[in-house]
Amino acid sequence: MRKCPVDDFTLKTETYEGVAIDVCPHCSGVWLDAGELESVQAAQASDFRDVPTSGAMDSVRAAEGMAQARSETPRNCVVCNSGLVQKEYAFASQIIIDQCPKGHGMWLDKDELARLEMFYEDQEDLDKILASMENEGKGLGGFFTRLWGNLRG
Ligand SMILES: [Zn+2]
Ligand SMILES: [Zn+2]
Repeated sequence: MRKCPVDDFTLKTETYEGVAIDVCPHCSGVWLDAGELESVQAAQASDFRDVPTSGAMDSVRAAEGMAQARSETPRNCVVCNSGLVQKEYAFASQIIIDQCPKGHGMWLDKDELARLEMFYEDQEDLDKILASMENEGKGLGGFFTRLWGNLRG
């Protein structure tokens, strides 16, 4: 059985957006095996164009709210027990995740998965990112290439 890297409770397997993930019943943190986050996002990719721009939150304020100081104790990979490495999920996301240095997956604290979804579902945010990418001459393909590249590190 996999144990929560934060509090050592046994993780429960749950289905989220059609993807099986490991959830801690105590702290609500989530372990994602390598590839599972992409699966969650792929299931939601079709939602992008349906989000009304008027309802989108300001991406700068959102990012500031997410950029919280991290003073947590180190976590270990639930698969190999290696110390997890903290890194920003994607450029400009301001979302810090704990990743296994050997590529088994990542730990998301409570709310971080929801923040990631907010990040991707926020049409205004996406437009700004795409605009910045186009300014760099990379376009949509470059956006996703960099996104997944950052995730895999
Ligand atoms: Zn926990
Ligand atoms: Zn590992």
